[in-house]
Amino acid sequence: MIASNLISKKRDGKSLSKSELNSFFNGYLKGEVTDAQMSAMLMATYFKGMSEDETFILVEIMLNSGSKIDFGNTKRYVADKHSTGGVGDKVSIILAPILACVGIKVPMIAGRGLGYTGGTIDKLESIPGFNTSPDLDQFKRWVNKCGYAIISQTNEVCPADKKIYSLRSKTATIPSIPLICGSIMSKKIAEGISGLVLDIKVGNGAFMKTKKQGAQLGEWLKNIGNAFGVSTDVIYTSMSQPLGRFSGLACEVQEAICCLKGDGPDDLIKITLELGANILIQSQLHSDKHSAYSALMEAINSGKAFEKFQQSVNIQGGSINQLELKTIPKYQKILKADKDGIIAKIDTESSGWCLVQMGCVAQKIGDALDHSAGIEFYKKLGDLVNSNEPIARIFGSNKRKIDSAEKFLKPAFTISPEYKPSPLFL
Ligand code: URA
Repeated sequence: MIASNLISKKRDGKSLSKSELNSFFNGYLKGEVTDAQMSAMLMATYFKGMSEDETFILVEIMLNSGSKIDFGNTKRYVADKHSTGGVGDKVSIILAPILACVGIKVPMIAGRGLGYTGGTIDKLESIPGFNTSPDLDQFKRWVNKCGYAIISQTNEVCPADKKIYSLRSKTATIPSIPLICGSIMSKKIAEGISGLVLDIKVGNGAFMKTKKQGAQLGEWLKNIGNAFGVSTDVIYTSMSQPLGRFSGLACEVQEAICCLKGDGPDDLIKITLELGANILIQSQLHSDKHSAYSALMEAINSGKAFEKFQQSVNIQGGSINQLELKTIPKYQKILKADKDGIIAKIDTESSGWCLVQMGCVAQKIGDALDHSAGIEFYKKLGDLVNSNEPIARIFGSNKRKIDSAEKFLKPAFTISPEYKPSPLFL
């Protein structure tokens, strides 16, 4: 294989054959293709795309780069959810323990921050001691014991996604349908699940900015899942503003804990329950949305979902008691409205880049994250504000970063006399 020939083929908009994709992507894992060459291939793919056939092959290659987990003939329905990425999206941390309480086994492989979107793994690593890279046998033991576990891609499972994921993040090549399909579906199929529900995020804080792009991504993801024997459903939700009240690292785990205790913000709870109900219906444990919703709410209201979360944190070596103590931010800034009106628009992507600047997403391997950092949104779309009223709080432990984040976040809010509401479910 001559790597540069394959890059130029993709650059010129041609399809790559199975053996060409195989030698390029496996060559990258073996060190025969360099980071620079893979970056060029990712950029060529970003601009020229891949056919659905090439995308299926990519998923297969990425899946086969590591082991596929097998839960044998477990009696439980093994399933998972995944989101295509957004700001403030901590649904996985809330939904996994709830599902484990209602009879679903959830072996979740999640990612770190990608571009301007926060990663479930980085958020969970705010919990002191929390281990997200066990070996495969340990991961299976955790899932079998607790009903769920959340880990990162490892050298054993999805090593290709582990390596390519961080390169995509650094090279502005994330919003590409084939690359997103390869990344998400290789992880999910490797989990050995029977069912999957995907939350396709659409809007100014999502990688898919329009419903049309979201619909194509959703269709391809569903086709891939079903072709690999995973019953796959998709829902489309708005990412036109950050999800919930907090975006950042430890603060999102704390908000997830509030949800598990029955005290979460409306948008976050609604999406969590809708995804959970889809999985329960798919599993045939419930035949209608009403009974599925009741079972999920019962897991929260009885306190079992929070207990399950605590059990999983203990099993994965973490200490929730230490979470708050170890992640108290040293500095904060309050952002105030500069006029009367309604919050008519939040530039969600800019708020995500603001979090990146504050140290919530690594920019290169080895970057230390500021787990104490985040944004509290006092006001969301449609809320009335008076001039000089607080609209957001920015916090973290690096004063210079907090000061510059303030300048970045302020223009993300548009205050107008009018506001056109947009639905949460699209
Ligand atoms: N989540 C992933 O795991 N990968 C993507 O490419 C986007 C969201």
